[in-house]
Amino acid sequence: MNIVELQQVEKSYQGVSALHQLNLELKQGEVLGLFGHNGAGKTTTIKLILGLIAATAGQVRVFGEDPTQSEARTLRRQLGFLQENVSFYDQLTGLEVLQYFARLKGIPKQSCHALLEQVGLSQAGKRRVKTYSKGMRQRLGLAQALLGEPKLLLLDEPTVGLDPIATQDFYRRIEQLKEQGCTVILCSHVLPGVEKYIDRALILGRGKLLAEGSVNDLRQQADLPATFHLQGDLTLPEHLAARANRDGRSMRLDVALQDKMTTMQQLIVLPGLENVDVHLPSLEDLYTHFIETHQVQEATP
Ligand code: ATP
Repeated sequence: MNIVELQQVEKSYQGVSALHQLNLELKQGEVLGLFGHNGAGKTTTIKLILGLIAATAGQVRVFGEDPTQSEARTLRRQLGFLQENVSFYDQLTGLEVLQYFARLKGIPKQSCHALLEQVGLSQAGKRRVKTYSKGMRQRLGLAQALLGEPKLLLLDEPTVGLDPIATQDFYRRIEQLKEQGCTVILCSHVLPGVEKYIDRALILGRGKLLAEGSVNDLRQQADLPATFHLQGDLTLPEHLAARANRDGRSMRLDVALQDKMTTMQQLIVLPGLENVDVHLPSLEDLYTHFIETHQVQEATP
């Protein structure tokens, strides 16, 4: 059974299309990155999966059920959700906030201490949230999303406000959850660093699917070159020299992805080669490629 299944989903707000014929199948333990410009339809997709809104047409299934119809408690207990720009009641302590959400979810409040520790807030748990920094609020939001060991986690901009170490800790936690069989959807505008933690990316543009697949699949689809940066007193073979950009002792050479290894073998034996770096299209490069190819711009109000 797919954990999440969207079939030909349409969502319109007052006749304005926000999602158009979206299909998605997510298996247990998959981590999906959901990317797109402002107004692309990411939050709408998350809201449909949470059952907060109903599709205008098409079918949404979460754990095999219609999330707008199923018994709220059973389904919600299996879901963890971190919304963008999380905010809490400032007068409560971090621990009280978590205990409050634990009660709502019907989860023993004893688990809250361990969760605070996991997100690095055990020292601050007894302080009021109004004294928390932005990153601390975000960590508390994560702890809230992780309450009750959810089987499906929906995270909207989870690393915003987190420092580099906290961001790494966060992704390590995602890896652990994945190993335990948790399925994760994460939306982010911060693309660098995300690619090694996601199994698949889905890129939306103006409510339409622009591209979908693993980062390697997307590289094949985009057909962007691999870029070699070379350093040294070099004479390149003729067929490579014609395509290289030289700047003194530095050179840049773009080759088709499928020629990467052959090119590497030809370069590595060249006399005078001091250094070589290879850059494969990053998730950011791929995102830009698909958005630009479809000429999708940010939604203007
Ligand atoms: P962002 O990255 O800015 O959060 P997003 O990808 O999450 O954007 P959505 O919030 O899903 O985008 O919005 C998709 C489209 O639907 C936008 O054009 C938005 O204006 C519109 N939209 C979203 N919610 C509503 C609503 N309640 N009423 C009317 N239009 C809406």
